[in-house]
Amino acid sequence: MTEAMRKTVCDLHAELVRNNLVVWTAGNVSGRVVGEDLFVIKPSGVTYDELTPQNMVVCDLDGNLVAGEHAPSSDTAAHAYVYRNMPEVNGVVHTHSTYASAWAARGEAIPCVLTAMADEFGGEIPVGPFALIGDDSIGQGIVKTLKGHRSRAVLMQNHGVFSIGPTPKAAVKAAVMCEDVARTVHVAKQLGEPLAIAQDDIDRLYDRYQNVYGQQRSPR
Ligand SMILES: [Zn+2]
Repeated sequence: MTEAMRKTVCDLHAELVRNNLVVWTAGNVSGRVVGEDLFVIKPSGVTYDELTPQNMVVCDLDGNLVAGEHAPSSDTAAHAYVYRNMPEVNGVVHTHSTYASAWAARGEAIPCVLTAMADEFGGEIPVGPFALIGDDSIGQGIVKTLKGHRSRAVLMQNHGVFSIGPTPKAAVKAAVMCEDVARTVHVAKQLGEPLAIAQDDIDRLYDRYQNVYGQQRSPR
């Protein structure tokens, strides 16, 4: 299980690069090793070109290093806090992607003005609190904002995006979609106020996309 997750998490980091969500060594993906109270995460300070399944780092749910030659990502405590407090979450992604982080810099939630947002996020993408790295503050902010919320992404104020999912791939998808809608709504706002979508239409779109759309057995 752990070996398979090392490969999954390593491969998904390439999606962050492919989708222009990261620069240099910023950004990270993690995946829970289901049933083992462990997760796999990016090593700290290693460039994307150098990532291999073997140099991924394995941590316990308190964020302690269990296996790996490198130190875990400096965001490990935040990932660990999410896994401890949201058992339904099996993947966590963090990026400083440009447009989403620009909304975070203003502390402004992205309003649900696109049907694609209603589909994927079921409403606005919310803002989480300002929090410094070093303790559980970031993890607490993520969990407090996303627990019970439809959105799988949160804009941590003055910082960037954390996204979650039932699989690591789903969390990466949420990070990609978050940046996409952040950019589109930003562009829309340059020439006027985007039109709101009625709440019952948002509800219908979300329900259809989450329950009917696509291949039922593929992980979302
Ligand atoms: Zn960060």
